[in-house]
Amino acid sequence: MFDGFWNETFQMRAMLFCTINDFPAYGNLSGYSVKGHHACPICEEDTSYTQLKHGRKIVYTRHQRFLKPHHPYRRLKKVFNGSQEHETAPILLTGEQVFQWVQHLNTIFGKNQKKEKSKTCIWKKMSIFFDLLYWSDLDIRHCIDVMHVEKNVCDSVIGALLNIQGKTKDGLNTRQDLAEMGIRSQLHPRSDGRKVYLPPACHTLSRKEKISFCQCLRRVKVPQGYSSNIKSLVQLKDLKLVGLKSHDCHVLMQQLLAVAIRDILPNKVRLAITRLCFFFNAICSKVVDPVKLD
Ligand SMILES: [Zn+2]
Repeated sequence: MFDGFWNETFQMRAMLFCTINDFPAYGNLSGYSVKGHHACPICEEDTSYTQLKHGRKIVYTRHQRFLKPHHPYRRLKKVFNGSQEHETAPILLTGEQVFQWVQHLNTIFGKNQKKEKSKTCIWKKMSIFFDLLYWSDLDIRHCIDVMHVEKNVCDSVIGALLNIQGKTKDGLNTRQDLAEMGIRSQLHPRSDGRKVYLPPACHTLSRKEKISFCQCLRRVKVPQGYSSNIKSLVQLKDLKLVGLKSHDCHVLMQQLLAVAIRDILPNKVRLAITRLCFFFNAICSKVVDPVKLD
């Protein structure tokens, strides 16, 4: 490196500490297959999944195992998927273990790769970062960035609240899957012979509430440079938000959403969403208190 101040060159040493990326990039960088049944690179083969019959999606279940051993949520059945969860969280693979796994992988790059190979092992390749001598000693090698997570969560929450077609995860298929799993009988689709009818869920907004929500966002005034023009995102005619960019979602999750839902929704739902907003607010702060975060 050249030091402009002293006008001389010096040897700089640098270290790659971790990578920060979205989840698909996680797959490319770590060499782990982040699709399919074992999509979680932490739980690896222990990833708990179910294939939904009607929604045809793979969903990942049994998240209560990550809670403390005697957490009250572990005993609850009805509010979750009907079964208690007592197993402990899977143990994190160390970098050394991962290296042992992948170092003998014989990867053939290119399009004519044999299919069977990729099926047998969930590790696709040895990450090039293992060329760094210290890489296998790092506890955390890859991180998922907040920006993408926040955008996805925000899109889903807004989509579910305003029931935006194509954005909401709620629908006939979802309700049929609930019936299939035998949980939440009050939400199962009902039919009167001719029409199928979906009972409203706790997060379903009435038209009046949707108008209140949209109008609140339309009336928001913010300091210059704080966010894009939120007003232009709101379509009062169709009662939906369109063209949300990452930063719009950031502003919504950090502040505006918690304000916009103040006088709608049942108490408990509002509290849950507000706490979710606070969580994102906390992890985006410049100073994070680990105890509080936990
Ligand atoms: Zn996992």
